[in-house]
Amino acid sequence: MNTSAPVGHALDAPGVAPGGTRSRSHTVGPPLWLLLELTYRCPLHCVFCYNPTDFANTGPELSTADWIRVLREARALGAVQLGLSGGEPLARDDLEEIVAEAHTLGFYINLITSGIGMTEARIKALKAAGLDHIQLSFQDSTREMNDFLSSTRTFELKAKVAELIRTHDYPMVLNVVLHRLNIDHVGEILAMAEALGAQYVELANTQYYGWAWLNREQLLPTRAQLERAEAATRAFRERVGAKMQIYFVVPDYFETRPKACMSGLGSVFLAVAPDGTALPCHAARTLPGLELPNVRGADVRAIWYDSPAFNRFRGDAWMKEPCRSCPEKVKDFGGCRCQAYLLTGDADNADPVCDLSPHHHLVTAAVARAERAAAAPAVAAPQSARAQGLTFRDHRVSIPVVIEEKRT
Ligand code: SF4
Ligand code: SF4
Repeated sequence: MNTSAPVGHALDAPGVAPGGTRSRSHTVGPPLWLLLELTYRCPLHCVFCYNPTDFANTGPELSTADWIRVLREARALGAVQLGLSGGEPLARDDLEEIVAEAHTLGFYINLITSGIGMTEARIKALKAAGLDHIQLSFQDSTREMNDFLSSTRTFELKAKVAELIRTHDYPMVLNVVLHRLNIDHVGEILAMAEALGAQYVELANTQYYGWAWLNREQLLPTRAQLERAEAATRAFRERVGAKMQIYFVVPDYFETRPKACMSGLGSVFLAVAPDGTALPCHAARTLPGLELPNVRGADVRAIWYDSPAFNRFRGDAWMKEPCRSCPEKVKDFGGCRCQAYLLTGDADNADPVCDLSPHHHLVTAAVARAERAAAAPAVAAPQSARAQGLTFRDHRVSIPVVIEEKRT
């Protein structure tokens, strides 16, 4: 499942003094936002999947009892918002049991799903268990592109799940990940959302981690595409008014300041991977030298407050120049650590999206390559993408990220 939601959302960081004193446990706020990646199993094969590219090498999934213990420990610390994602969380037979426990504990529970595996019986059971909210993903407004991008025939299934969501009185919340191959369809995507009765649509431009990082050269849109998509979104907003809220997440490669990623690592967000690895952001496995704790061997309180991994990027002592002396560090915390590492090879560097970074040219060069690729002779999108050698998320090709060749 793509969970773009936590990436780049500007949550406040409670208990954090400006300038950052978060390395001492008594000044660290609770992990308000808990994301449980219940499984890496997924019937889809999305080219932009944020799951680690070597997911097939991770250990066995946590048991139901383990997940329930994590819920209890996190709630005791003050976690309130719960995301259940994956992979595809509906692949877990115990999803209803996990939801019921989370509801009893008082979490607000959001299921982030491709919809595959949802049935009338399951949605009824999830509703009875106390599920608050469902976010359904589509890959595109057309069957051809939706099915191509996920390498499955799932478009009609998703439409049926949207109908189930509506008839069971959940708000209709859709997520569509945008990139070069579908961003020109934003008008049609919004029309599809309207026809499905959506109240909230997230148009989330791809964040380049995991499988999307592997496919960045094929997925990064051009500036002209982005401007057209923003214009289409504005026109649609003017037409439908308050009936539908549209959240357009701009691809940060086109910005000059980075996102305040996770409001700073170790500030408000805690993810737990299927094998129990605790992560300060869902891409943090990428970061070398970060000894990520596991909920099988430690309780959530110890992980959150005391583990070196969760303290590593608290405060500002880790920062290099230009971030260290920059007045904007209290707003953006130097940007995304994973992006800094993937692009520059050093997680302590400023996020190269920032035009004050000495590595900003790596971002502008990637955008320039996207412009050149788009200027090549036009071929219908699926055929063109096939020819360009996209790597689809798949167990059989689950591989370590090849970083070196991307740092150009
Ligand atoms: S393959 Fe697609 S649906 Fe499955 S987890 Fe990845 S992004 Fe989500
Ligand atoms: S130099 Fe660092 S802190 Fe300053 S704006 Fe850029 S990324 Fe943010």
